[in-house]
Amino acid sequence: MGFFIAKEDDIKKGKTTDVYFVRTEKILREKNVHNLSVAEFTVSGLPNGYRWALFGGLEEAVELLKGKNIDLYAFPEGSLFKPRDINGVLVPVMYIVGDYVEFAIYETPTLGFLCHTSGIMTKSARVRLAAGDSVVLSFGIRRMHPALAPMIDRAAYIGGCDGVSSLIGAETINQPAKGTMPHALMITMGEDEAWKAYDELMPPEVPRIALIDTFGDEKYEAIKAAKIFRKLQSVRLDTPGSRRGNFAAIIREVRWELDVRGYKDVGIFVSGGLNEKTIPELKEVGANGFGVGTSISNAPTIDFAMDIVEIDGKPSAKKGKFGGRKDTYRCKECFSFVNVRHGENPPERCPVCGGELEPMHRKILDKGKLVYELPGVEDMRNYVLSQLEHLKKVEENPI
Ligand SMILES: [Zn+2]
Repeated sequence: MGFFIAKEDDIKKGKTTDVYFVRTEKILREKNVHNLSVAEFTVSGLPNGYRWALFGGLEEAVELLKGKNIDLYAFPEGSLFKPRDINGVLVPVMYIVGDYVEFAIYETPTLGFLCHTSGIMTKSARVRLAAGDSVVLSFGIRRMHPALAPMIDRAAYIGGCDGVSSLIGAETINQPAKGTMPHALMITMGEDEAWKAYDELMPPEVPRIALIDTFGDEKYEAIKAAKIFRKLQSVRLDTPGSRRGNFAAIIREVRWELDVRGYKDVGIFVSGGLNEKTIPELKEVGANGFGVGTSISNAPTIDFAMDIVEIDGKPSAKKGKFGGRKDTYRCKECFSFVNVRHGENPPERCPVCGGELEPMHRKILDKGKLVYELPGVEDMRNYVLSQLEHLKKVEENPI
């Protein structure tokens, strides 16, 4: 049977779409219905009380939609957005202008790219904010289908993780893969031997992070590891839930015991079930590196929908959506959004704070041809981080 995955070609041919779009396309073609449609991508709400999200998945959406006879407009990938503008009107992060039959069958896969990537990117950004300047590594690909590892790790990195654990994800972001050591190494070699062999055989650029929770007590193992390694960078605690009791208290104690023995430079790297809610307390007591897995890789999706809002220049949208093509502006100061009818002038300044408004839509495809320079991964990540820095300045509780 092979693996249960759609090949790139299957996706490009529309085989991963919902059948009703195929039927719709057939009917419209047979009846010769060709309109100039505007279809926009919006979210009606965000998961778990999020107040903002990051827009991801554009690059793959472009890969799918290029060559079709449509125009595509979108926010830059990594843009922070809110579901609604200051008047409660839905914020279109992306929209297509073209004959609907040209793109009907691509709605499903396009939404898939946007929803899934945005979900992971957003969660990674939330974790980044929680972790402050501590190192955060994406460890979660093992919980997801392996075919998605590049997408997951790329989105996690752009969202603010400092590194990723998978080889293929690391290739996607042009970085070396990051990791520590698995319990299996301790169990197969014995702990002391495993640490010595790791220190001896790993090239110098591999950080010396000793896993210290395999058999013994974290405090004594940490002290032992600090003595065995020639220059230990960090100890890693992945203490199982059944032994945690109070994880923060364990970390606080390890920190103290390392410090009083002169190992102040040895960091504490923690992993296991972490998310943006659990990280702050652990950071507070001395953890300064975080391996974050499932909460990022299995992040809730950002539930975009695609809706036609305009036909042949006339506003036309279903109940619950706002008709007409829109131009969308974001305040540089407070990240409020303002939609105006396409071509109309926006307010001079942000109606909320008086800040400067910037137009958010870029023309990406012109009749299917790429007319926008897709930014590299580092540029997107820097864009995300700069928005998060700004958010921290203007919001007391940015998460
Ligand atoms: Zn403002």
